[in-house]
Amino acid sequence: MSGRLSPRDDLGELEGYHSPQLDVPVRLNTNESPYAPPQDFVDAWLDALRGTPLNRYPDRDARELRAALADQLAQPVDRLFCANGSNEVLQTLLLTFGGAGRAAAVFEPTYALHSHIARITGTAVVVGERTADFTVDPVAARKLLAEHRPALAFLCSPNNPTGTVEPADTVEALLDATDGLVVVDEAYGEFAERSAIRLVADDGRLVVARTYSKVWSMAALRLGFCVAPPWVIEELEKVVLPYHLAAPTQLAGVLALRYGGEMDERVALLVRERERLEAELEKVEGVTVFPSGANFVLLRVHGDGHALWQRLVDRGVLVRDFSGWPRLAGCLRVTVGTPEENDAFLAALREAVEEVRVA
Ligand code: PMP
Repeated sequence: MSGRLSPRDDLGELEGYHSPQLDVPVRLNTNESPYAPPQDFVDAWLDALRGTPLNRYPDRDARELRAALADQLAQPVDRLFCANGSNEVLQTLLLTFGGAGRAAAVFEPTYALHSHIARITGTAVVVGERTADFTVDPVAARKLLAEHRPALAFLCSPNNPTGTVEPADTVEALLDATDGLVVVDEAYGEFAERSAIRLVADDGRLVVARTYSKVWSMAALRLGFCVAPPWVIEELEKVVLPYHLAAPTQLAGVLALRYGGEMDERVALLVRERERLEAELEKVEGVTVFPSGANFVLLRVHGDGHALWQRLVDRGVLVRDFSGWPRLAGCLRVTVGTPEENDAFLAALREAVEEVRVA
């Protein structure tokens, strides 16, 4: 016998995750932290690794890490679940509570992986539209949830790629309108003034997902977590693969929390830079800036967004091109980098906008 085997029928139409990586000097396309973690943290982690028995499986329950996080967030430890990046948290939620015959709601435009992972897990996707300013309208959202009764409703706040932060009222309205889970994806939560973590309750259905990839400068290590009612955590633990979280990752997660002061300084610096970027972008003629509570800014040019993206690449600056997305014509998303990177982006943008206008 020969020939290929086609993937599962329901995966036939699925496209992989597209986010081009180009080797250019200024990379502001994937919302990572521009700063390496503190050297003292790296040294402490490497020392601890030397003492780790590599022949043994890691702690299945990530007890030390969950206890350290619980302490940091002032949450009970049985509300914490950790995984390989918040993407694995989202995947485990969908594997556990989604699947055949169930649906997940998303509010577009939003983080593509919510609907992507839903489809991979055989979960139907119900799409709600954000309003013109990219907030979620609680009345429309309630209607959507009442009509489709999804098992999960994803609310990304701050929303990727728009930067929009949702008020607590919207989270509460969603919780009120569904008997499923409401999953608030706070991958960028530390950059915003509001968080939904305080709304998590033991007898509730709210889950808040977070990551070490951005604020904690640890994208390479793949660590994310969620805060959720203990009954949700218990179900997730049954589904996730045993020993899924490697010992070096668990160790890094514990040790990083000892450097909270440094991390807070980075957040403050990035928020200041975001505000500067927003202010400078406002001054560029033909550019509209959307308010952001994250470490990135979405902007719209009144013209060919892709041509502008290419001209930025030609100048050695890579941002993320969203201009081909529904409702995001002319939109590019720029990650807040170091002050020097942001200056390089602004200079390239001013020139490129001029060129695209003339062309
Ligand atoms: N949620 C959102 C909204 C994101 O933008 C990202 C990263 N791009 C993630 C989750 C996943 O992050 P990670 O898996 O690195 O924790």
